[in-house]
Amino acid sequence: MRTDVLGVAFDNVTLDEAVDRALAMLEEDGPHMVATPNPEIVQRAGKDREFAGILSQADLVIPDGVGVVYAAKILGRPLKGRVPGIDFASALMGRIAGTGKRLFLLGAAPGVAEQAAANLRAKYPGLEICGARDGFFKEDGPVVDAIREARADVVFVCLGFPKQEKWIAAHGEAAGARLYAGLGGSLDVFAGKAERAPEGFQRLGLEWLYRLMKEPSRIGRMAKLPLFLVSAAGARLRGK
Ligand code: UDP
Repeated sequence: MRTDVLGVAFDNVTLDEAVDRALAMLEEDGPHMVATPNPEIVQRAGKDREFAGILSQADLVIPDGVGVVYAAKILGRPLKGRVPGIDFASALMGRIAGTGKRLFLLGAAPGVAEQAAANLRAKYPGLEICGARDGFFKEDGPVVDAIREARADVVFVCLGFPKQEKWIAAHGEAAGARLYAGLGGSLDVFAGKAERAPEGFQRLGLEWLYRLMKEPSRIGRMAKLPLFLVSAAGARLRGK
């Protein structure tokens, strides 16, 4: 049973449970999709039916932001906690390192995926990164071929939402991997181009505040967050 938060159904899992599920998917034929919606993504799904349909078909849907966890609580169906996509990705890499499973990195500006690959190989000895490619391609065919030829098991698709989820839905099967995870700006962080909030901010659930301090231009995007919680309160009052 999934937990509905304003139209997106979330798996109520801890980080470890999410990674266990992903590893189990790697033992089955693919493609499987892991989605990591934050409040902005839930809001977008409310306006984009195709995107909402894709999220509802995903094999694992984890709550990326603290906003989703608050909304679930307001709705009276609390989730175990947030599972940031980047933590999921890190834990998964730790578990597949040394197993022979092959990871492909797709997304971000030219050079970023390659830099991320170098950093990740150093961080997770035994991690097999079988390919890396930027996310500003014009044609899908060569990207699909590259993933298939690399015999990838797992692909981190970091094209921003909803592009990455739509890409996985359209091309996941042809590219031949078993597991695809849509992970937004994660490659920028792995490459050292973008900084994650210090642990104190993370622990307090204030990662969004740190991001806002670093990139004040995000204020427009973030101003929608309180509205998201108000929507949750409204839905609760209407008995949804
Ligand atoms: N990106 C990409 N291809 C595109 C558009 C964006 O690879 O056509 C990348 C961009 O360089 C960045 C990521 O997608 O690395 C999106 O990052 P953001 O933090 O905005 O992600 P989101 O808010 O979707 O999690």
